[in-house]
Amino acid sequence: MSKVPVAADLVLVLGDQLDADSPALRRTRPEESVVVMVEATGEAVRAWSHKQRIAVFLAAMRHHAADLRARGWGVDYRDLDAGWPSLAEGLEDAIAQHRPQRVLAVEAGEWRVQADIEAACRRRGVALEWVADTHFYCRRADFQAWAKGRKSLVMEFFYREQRRRFGILMEGDQPVGGTWNFDKENRGSFGRGGPGVLPPWARFEPDDITRGALDAVAAHFPDHPGELGSFRWPVTRAQAHAALDDFIAHRLPLFGRYQDAMWQGEPWLYHAGLSTALNLKLLDPRDAVRAAVAAWEAGAAPLAAVEGFVRQVLGWREFIRGVYWLKMPGYAALNHFGHQRPLPEFFWTAQTELNCLRQCFSDTLENGYAHHIQRLMVIGNFALLAGLEPRAVCDWFLAAYTDAVEWVELPNTLGMALHADGGIVGSKPYVASGAYIKRMSNYCAGCRFDPGTRSGAGACPFNLLYWDFLARHRPRLEANPRMALAVRNLDRIDATELARIRAAAADFLDGL
Ligand code: SF4
Repeated sequence: MSKVPVAADLVLVLGDQLDADSPALRRTRPEESVVVMVEATGEAVRAWSHKQRIAVFLAAMRHHAADLRARGWGVDYRDLDAGWPSLAEGLEDAIAQHRPQRVLAVEAGEWRVQADIEAACRRRGVALEWVADTHFYCRRADFQAWAKGRKSLVMEFFYREQRRRFGILMEGDQPVGGTWNFDKENRGSFGRGGPGVLPPWARFEPDDITRGALDAVAAHFPDHPGELGSFRWPVTRAQAHAALDDFIAHRLPLFGRYQDAMWQGEPWLYHAGLSTALNLKLLDPRDAVRAAVAAWEAGAAPLAAVEGFVRQVLGWREFIRGVYWLKMPGYAALNHFGHQRPLPEFFWTAQTELNCLRQCFSDTLENGYAHHIQRLMVIGNFALLAGLEPRAVCDWFLAAYTDAVEWVELPNTLGMALHADGGIVGSKPYVASGAYIKRMSNYCAGCRFDPGTRSGAGACPFNLLYWDFLARHRPRLEANPRMALAVRNLDRIDATELARIRAAAADFLDGL
């Protein structure tokens, strides 16, 4: 039996920590360390993950391990066939084998994973050294300092501070273009003619390593949701940069104008599609922001589009991470409206008569992707209006999307989409009737329901649920100045009609 080498350092690299220039690797040298990476089956099963979500992690991890080996690092890679049910068990076994003096790890993205790693090292009696995560512009401690003493956490103020601090789209102390926010220019729909010919997204054909990952997913998780055949995601740093270049050259100029628009059969539109690569850390957010700003400076993209993109990467993404680490672990259990309804089966099958939902679920199941308005204003909106249990909805969002890791998924779903945090992330619930979906998409044209009707046969269920939601939670919503007008509109509905709407809403919900 070959002798297992004793390493001074065991460097734990998680599946969403695939940056080449990891700060944990900078703390040690190849000749005195072993890198450990674990494909734990439990991570795919804990949330019943879409096949492409599992595949993107495995393919990117395997490429990363190959790259580390080529750069001289010893890698103890434990693949699915090794059968480690959890990361902690794989790590403990690696500690027992390599007998390191310390374990080095970049701060975990997820609270539970961080606690599991700490417990594993404690059980094995080995020192654990956390290394600050330099992927993000804003460190966890910086966000905590920013949040301290504030009555409410307003993303806009955080974003402006980030712009100032890092000198992005600034002229001295003022924003370029004279305003911080171009949201008004970024709410276009396609109109009756539709989007026309769209620039295709770059597609990355699987190489041998990726094919191996896809085969492993098919073999180990055959009953998981989703398709593997359309797998297209960047899984290396070179591919992530190619995806960035493709977005900047072909879609950024119209990204802002159409970022809220939806169109049947067109899941990609002008979106960046970079969140998967960013969240695996194959792509540095600084590179994404720099490329977008350079396009504006070169006159290749309008300021409104570039500011909209920068707001997502420098503002929203960093704000959401800050909130997650500020509020966990209690945040995950919040349920402001006390909603308890179980998740309908059609979240996993797309078999529903509501065409907007059917399209958004179909896109999700086929690609492991839906863009943010499909997620927020169709699926999330429905989940909130229907009173679905937040924990079940969050688990679904975590499972369904290739870019889903808990620090980003949880505040976006529980906070932004469901308002289950009572307003920590968003200052009001984002609820809308069928009129919004009709305005922003062509889904209603292919639906058996009528978005212009709120009662009687064929009334759009979003309309029924919208008015029922406002009536059901009226006392709570009235206390929110941003909802006061919407709630007052209830008084414009005749009491008999409102009773009919609410009875129809109850029938609809009973049938879920
Ligand atoms: Fe969705 Fe209502 Fe439009 Fe049908 S009519 S697609 S249910 S918004």
